[in-house]
Amino acid sequence: MMPFWKPAKGKTGVLLYLALIHILAVTGVVLFPSPSLPVLGLSLLLACLGGLGTTIGYHRMLAHRAVQVNKVIEHVLVFCAMFNGSGNPASWVAYHRHHHAYTDTPEDISSPKHGGFWWAHLRWLYQSSPADRQKWCPELNRGAHQIWRLAEAPVVLLSLCCGLALGWEGFFWIGAIRLVYSLHMQCFVNSLTHLDHSDTGDSSRNVWWLGPLQLTAWGENWHRNHHSSVGSARLGWHWWQVDIGWYFIRMLEAVGLATNVRRPRTQ
Ligand SMILES: [Zn+2]
Ligand SMILES: [Zn+2]
Repeated sequence: MMPFWKPAKGKTGVLLYLALIHILAVTGVVLFPSPSLPVLGLSLLLACLGGLGTTIGYHRMLAHRAVQVNKVIEHVLVFCAMFNGSGNPASWVAYHRHHHAYTDTPEDISSPKHGGFWWAHLRWLYQSSPADRQKWCPELNRGAHQIWRLAEAPVVLLSLCCGLALGWEGFFWIGAIRLVYSLHMQCFVNSLTHLDHSDTGDSSRNVWWLGPLQLTAWGENWHRNHHSSVGSARLGWHWWQVDIGWYFIRMLEAVGLATNVRRPRTQ
């Protein structure tokens, strides 16, 4: 395995971005350890919206086609996910379909079984070769979604800097600190929820305690459920498996803004 500081070909930008937001986030926490309520509230709100964008927009809707939503809402969700640092839709979906196609094999792009915790958590982001978009998601490699790829850098820049409107405290807390928090909470889906070492051959697991921490991945902590019924828009299968993404989809469905909602195989 290459040393941890070395990016794969074409991924230097990703490594620099990750380093930059971490440095800024640590600086922000040192300079402003207790943010004002409005700044903290806005930062959390943006993180929550970003979480909905990633889990509903990128994961359940675009990657698995488990639900269809109104076109305007679709693009709002994509914007929220991108604003939260989840990358552009085509690259997210290509990596994700690759992960499902090769789960737990040496080809799995983010397997802790083969690369260890830190590989699965962060290193694969800048040390794996990019997944082939044309192969894994040709439908996102054209049309309106192409525009999102061009918009990615300006949206991320806006996301990082927009808090400056509320002063330096806003800059750090609404920008880098939120992005670092969102990043790690989502990275836990690749690392922590794939650490089942029993001999079932399937490393995915449900991690209940991750749910309340994971404001940015509503319901994604039920990852074993997800691997057991990949096409389902519902990740929490029991009343006690809180799945905010699912409640949001049901709400959209109730008002006619979501259709073709697929349920788990067991229901
Ligand atoms: Zn998935
Ligand atoms: Zn997985």
